[in-house]
Amino acid sequence: MSKFSEVFGVEPDGAWRAPGRVNLIGEHTDYNDGLVLPIALPNRIVVTASARSDGQFAVASSGHSDTIEFSLAGIEPGSVADWAAYPAGAAWVLREAGFEIGGANLLVDSDLPSGAGLSSSAALLCATAVALLGLRGLEVDPAEVARLAQRAENQYVGAPVGLMDQMASMCCTAGHALYFDIRAMTTDQIPFDPAADGLGLLVVDVKAPHRHVDGEYAARRRSCEQAAAELGVPALRSIAFDQLDEALARLSDDVVRRRVRHVVTEIRRVEEAVELMRAGRLREVGPLFTASHVSMRDDFEITVPELDVAVDAALAAGAVGARMTGGGFGGCIIALVEADAVDATLAAIEKAFADHGFTAPTSLAATPSPGASRIS
Ligand code: ADP
Ligand code: MG
Repeated sequence: MSKFSEVFGVEPDGAWRAPGRVNLIGEHTDYNDGLVLPIALPNRIVVTASARSDGQFAVASSGHSDTIEFSLAGIEPGSVADWAAYPAGAAWVLREAGFEIGGANLLVDSDLPSGAGLSSSAALLCATAVALLGLRGLEVDPAEVARLAQRAENQYVGAPVGLMDQMASMCCTAGHALYFDIRAMTTDQIPFDPAADGLGLLVVDVKAPHRHVDGEYAARRRSCEQAAAELGVPALRSIAFDQLDEALARLSDDVVRRRVRHVVTEIRRVEEAVELMRAGRLREVGPLFTASHVSMRDDFEITVPELDVAVDAALAAGAVGARMTGGGFGGCIIALVEADAVDATLAAIEKAFADHGFTAPTSLAATPSPGASRIS
């Protein structure tokens, strides 16, 4: 008997997957109307599902022992707590948007680390949303599903996240990074296939304990908004790279000045990375990764010792480039390394962590993978 029929007593109607993501470059640029460049990971969340005609939901996850039940009609923000808030949020947002989704049995399975900054939250929302739509044969544009999943995470789960994670989970394609311009709301598929260039992309979860992430995030956001107001622009995206010095000279606060320098130079680095990737000059993207890390360490001040040690160890082991990825204060680093040096780079990071007395890191190899789809 399948796990699904063991839990729900019926056979599933289908299974849908949605991947996690890692951002190659463009950090803390999203709320500044900037540019981001995520890839989808091979690691994903799978939602196996069967439709119900009674308007009820039963959800289970292989990572959790209980089956949680709720009715479609009764879902309101706050009505379902803990992890089941994600599938409930997906059902809520689809109901609110007018889709006739009915009820369902949902089984969640994942090989995507949760809470590591690889966006298991967006993957769970997107996988549930495509499953609920797919069960009813409803076809919805992937970018629209991404917007709905963001709305669910903002308004149902209560996390003030941007749109990058959901767009990556829904719209990425194999062998490409997703160039997402948040001001223009446009996307472009940029060729990114490290293996074809004899390279590998290593993602290392540095297992750092959470350190006031929400408060620091809010503070960075406030600094950027304050700077934009002082400079008389709607968002820092409006400050072109060649106007940076002039803009910095008009700011009164040294900390705010450094925050602005990170955002403006980071947006420029995304543009440069995209130009190089389009030209097939992937190795030259490495130094941009490293410059991005230095900017986040020194100007935006969102790294922690574990992230800096991991990046330094990767570079010392010969990585082409390395940087922290995600919101900061923990999470993961990425390192672009020669394909035959992946294991040695990882060993160097593990040794550095042991020498510093840090918790041992975990890693995965990031092949640029496709966005959400039905799998059976
Ligand atoms: P991240 O998105 O970086 O992984 P978040 O804190 O945003 O971290 O989301 C993690 C949350 O998503 C978990 O606490 C849990 O509620 C939910 N989640 C992720 N994976 C699963 C899973 N396999 N089963 C159930 N819930 C999951
Ligand atoms: Mg998340």
